[in-house]
Amino acid sequence: MKRIYMDHSATTPVAPEVLQAMLPYLSDKFGNASSLHSFGREAKEALEESREKVAKLLGASPEEIVFTSGGTESDNLALKGIARRNKEKGKHIITTSVEHPAILETCRKLEKEGFSVTYLPVTSEGLVDPASLEAAIRPDTILISIMHANNEIGTIQPLEEIGRLAAERDIRLHTDAVQSVGKIPTNVNALGVDSLSLSAHKLYGPKGVGALYIRRGTKLESMVQGGGHERGLRSGTENVAGIVGLARAAQLCEEGMAAEGQRLTELRDRLAGLVLEKVKDAWINGTMKRRLPGSLNFGFSYVEGESLLLFLDSKGIALSTGSACSSHKLEPSHVLLSLGLRPEECHGSLRITMGRSNTNEEVDYVAQCIVEAVERFRGISALGRE
Ligand SMILES: *Cc1c(COP(=O)(O)O)cnc(C)c1O
Repeated sequence: MKRIYMDHSATTPVAPEVLQAMLPYLSDKFGNASSLHSFGREAKEALEESREKVAKLLGASPEEIVFTSGGTESDNLALKGIARRNKEKGKHIITTSVEHPAILETCRKLEKEGFSVTYLPVTSEGLVDPASLEAAIRPDTILISIMHANNEIGTIQPLEEIGRLAAERDIRLHTDAVQSVGKIPTNVNALGVDSLSLSAHKLYGPKGVGALYIRRGTKLESMVQGGGHERGLRSGTENVAGIVGLARAAQLCEEGMAAEGQRLTELRDRLAGLVLEKVKDAWINGTMKRRLPGSLNFGFSYVEGESLLLFLDSKGIALSTGSACSSHKLEPSHVLLSLGLRPEECHGSLRITMGRSNTNEEVDYVAQCIVEAVERFRGISALGRE
């Protein structure tokens, strides 16, 4: 059976060009970037060229990029690093109720250390209201962390406006941009952020590698002590092959962004139209106006998302309910609850995130299978009306 992958927010395949770029660093060019001999210099050169490429995608300077093991570590380093280093100035942090666990759990940890955290609600459209952010700011607020694009519903926050608010008050602004980098423009100066997390495996690079952008002059403490790699902010021998892969992936995304964004927006809107036209009591979670090109999150009444997912899997279609991180739990998604949905409405959700491999034909087939799945499970569901 032909398999159709529509779960690109969970992870993406490594692009062939990325694999090709990485291979030499997993064989002949195996040097340690800290070594002084030719093997070391070869690795060091690759590392610094990669830093330039990643910086370019963000409109940053190479010395503002720290390589990490991925989005989770970048979020931890930014939040813990900035909070702990600046606690003399204040101990209040503002974030949102729809963040990824990498942010939410880090905030919970900081609360245990004595920081106080405000979790801003979002509108029913999934957006942070800058006025409510402004109202939450206190004299002791030192850090604001607001994700750029949401991993479950694909909505894009008004970061530019939030960036201006934070800058006027001299508060550091972090963004988890793991879902937006490579898909939409993420220029750190246009967004007005002081730090930004990204992850290679969400943009056709390998797993286990990512980066944190840190604006020049931003004070933060390191989490990992050791040999002083990455300007002392992240000790440990660099994952040169992974970093080369991340950089090549960033470059490919930058080159293809406009065309691929347009193509995925058309696929997304086509799929939304086909499903909503045929299925009653169905809706899209989150605004359609500020949304990632390939992302959709459907809500269906009277049916369990889990049953739909398994039926679609049997048809070769891979997608998710809620997020990949929460799909092993039975609790409703914290993101959907934040939109004001009732728990039973959260359970009937399907997240579809399209990417490079997806085509018009696949969209038509997936739409047809979703319609069939909803009809079938509503028919046998105790919650169904028929
Ligand atoms: C995937 C993801 C992360 C975690 O990144 P990893 O590289 O998997 O650790 C963090 N934030 C968001 C929004 C994500 O989608």
